[in-house]
Amino acid sequence: MNSHKQHIHPEEQYKAFIEQSSEGIWRFELDKPLNIRRSPEAQIRHMYDYAYLAECNDAMARMYGYARAGEIVGSRLKDLLPSGDTRNIEYLRAFIRSGYRLTNATSYELDKNKDIRIFQNNLIGIIDNGYLIRAWGTQRDVTQQQKLQERMELLESVSSKLVVSLDRNIAIQDVARLLVPYMADYCRIVMVDANGEVKEIAVNHHDPAKLPLVKKLYDSYKEMPEAEYGIPSLLRSGKSQIISEVNEKVLAAYKSGRSMIRIIKKLGLTSYMGIPLIARGRVIGAITFSSVSNHRRYTRDDLKFATELSRRIALTLDNNKLYSEVQDELRERKAYEGNLAFLAHVSKILSMSLDYKATLSNFAKLAVETMADWCAVDMFDGIKVERLAFHHKDPAKVKLAHTMRNKFSSHIDTSAGVFGVLNKGKSVLYPVITDELISKSTTSREYRNFIRKLGLTSAMIVPIKIRNIPVGAISFISAGLGRIYTESDLITAEEVASRAALAIEHSMLYQESKKAIKLRDDFISMASHELRTPLTTIKMYTQVIQKQLLRKGESEMRNSFSNVDMQLSKLNTLINELLNVTRVQMGKMEFRMEPFDLKECLEKIISEIQSVNTENRIVLRGNVTGRVWGDKDRICQVMVNLLLNAIKYSHKDGKIIVSVHRNKDTISVSVRDFGIGIDAIHQKKIFEKFYRVNSDKEMTYPGLGIGLFISSEIVKQHGGVIKVHSAKGKGATFRFPLQLYSNQTV
Ligand code: ADP
Repeated sequence: MNSHKQHIHPEEQYKAFIEQSSEGIWRFELDKPLNIRRSPEAQIRHMYDYAYLAECNDAMARMYGYARAGEIVGSRLKDLLPSGDTRNIEYLRAFIRSGYRLTNATSYELDKNKDIRIFQNNLIGIIDNGYLIRAWGTQRDVTQQQKLQERMELLESVSSKLVVSLDRNIAIQDVARLLVPYMADYCRIVMVDANGEVKEIAVNHHDPAKLPLVKKLYDSYKEMPEAEYGIPSLLRSGKSQIISEVNEKVLAAYKSGRSMIRIIKKLGLTSYMGIPLIARGRVIGAITFSSVSNHRRYTRDDLKFATELSRRIALTLDNNKLYSEVQDELRERKAYEGNLAFLAHVSKILSMSLDYKATLSNFAKLAVETMADWCAVDMFDGIKVERLAFHHKDPAKVKLAHTMRNKFSSHIDTSAGVFGVLNKGKSVLYPVITDELISKSTTSREYRNFIRKLGLTSAMIVPIKIRNIPVGAISFISAGLGRIYTESDLITAEEVASRAALAIEHSMLYQESKKAIKLRDDFISMASHELRTPLTTIKMYTQVIQKQLLRKGESEMRNSFSNVDMQLSKLNTLINELLNVTRVQMGKMEFRMEPFDLKECLEKIISEIQSVNTENRIVLRGNVTGRVWGDKDRICQVMVNLLLNAIKYSHKDGKIIVSVHRNKDTISVSVRDFGIGIDAIHQKKIFEKFYRVNSDKEMTYPGLGIGLFISSEIVKQHGGVIKVHSAKGKGATFRFPLQLYSNQTV
């Protein structure tokens, strides 16, 4: 031990100890002793009224930003320990509760610059006769640690609130709650959508009574969109704002309206920070922090922290949003995939038959299996609406619904539902079938109650439009826990309706063309009959006249008449062919089956044709003995048709080859020419009634397009098929089989 110091007086030693201590050491006195039996509130009020710092060391003075104890001694308690901070009231209350011996208690005080300092205190009160007269204490500056701690806690709780909450709106309300009072006395958070439209707002004030005033302040922004500070400017600029001290001078410089300034003053705003919420480079919202107590003035350091906090809030909110978007998309896609499968099915069903009534009924059944609990198809003929198909998995329910609908048809609102859709030609989607909707749909209470009992959930009605005119409507209705229809379901339903429209249109066109064909055939049959009678008479007269001319020796006149007769024969053949078509059609062509000599028949036809046509050479190849089974005249008719075609569609001087070829018990007959040939796409169709290859070149050949039709029908009746082998420009070969006659045949 130092011998020099041993001479120092104990009181001086004590003073030296106090001076050198790094802790603040203090003594508070009361102008008026405090009755410790009074209520804690009264005691606290008393302390604020009468307590002052009577003595302290320099370390304590430094904690408040002063150099020497002398500069701070004499300060009133209320100046150092602001009563506006509820934590200080709590601190004093704890002191009283502890019997005036408090350890490790935190106070939130103001330094020389009115910045907040946080101290850890140990203190003891001196009681005399039931009165507190002074307090001794020591304090440590824990501002940095405490702030750090509080900030860490805040960051953590904000993050956990945001992560836990799936409902973003609730999340920002929670955050607003957490920020007060740690970071602000009142605050506001807004979120905006991609267009900058404000979507959600959270507001909080430590004094709930002040909330309406805060809201009023924010409303006043609307009239001041150009204000320099506040949410609109944060969203606009994406830059942070800070006003450490809101005073008259600052307020005067505000580009804000008078009413706004009035509210700001009423709120007692002393300090302000505003920070935009930025995620992925986009402003998604903003937070404002406002302080009304003069103990808190936001510093650059606060702004830094608030920025970090806001960055995390923005990130988490954005992540939440992304997550829910992905979830929505997945859900949507799943629905969508189901709809695609449904569409594929629908197309199949709709293309299966040309009878659209049956088809639509099948379709409604499919819809009930996949898209709806109820499905109805209504058709509108311009006057009345007819329910064409109606389905539910329980047929009894369908029947009942049908009966009820008919019974109350005059009570149904004909401006809405199916009727509305048919009127306007526009689809409707009712994601939720509300009671209000049901009430509006009918004036009958009984029917209303019936509908209510069905427990309908969601509905969509789409029009079936043909050439843009609504001709029907399809209703999809879900019930109970059934699906809630979305816009994407509506798109599917509209697609279904447009496919149904096509199917209906096809079916209608088909019916129309069937009618037209029948009309044509009826006309041909009637006309050919009518033509034949006068033709026969004319032919008879020409023959009579020819005979008379022959007798009179007027050979020149007679020759002219034989020409008339020849043309009349041609006309007769044509009319007969037309009559044949009619007969084939009605199944009235008669066949006289018998065995006949094919070779003899072919030779006869060839020589007859050659006798009038010398330009083409017809050769017969193959040698077949024995007879075939069939109607000789009809087979001759087929051969004449094929040979005349071969001549007609050949070049002059062309060769025509008729071949017969024996297989096991059939003979195949073919006619080959080297003419214009037939393109593959026409080859099947040339056997159809009235079909002619329709290109400019072929059109110059005369004909009705019925020769091959009749020929193929005749061959069919003989149990065979005519086939053609050809290529454009390469000539054509027609071939058909005939049964060889044996005794077993017949
Ligand atoms: P048409 O009276 O038109 O000849 P067909 O029923 O006999 O009626 O023939 C139908 C169509 O088939 C003809 O219009 C022609 O285009 C085509 N056709 C028939 N035979 C031949 C052939 N030998 N060569 C080329 N085209 C042919």
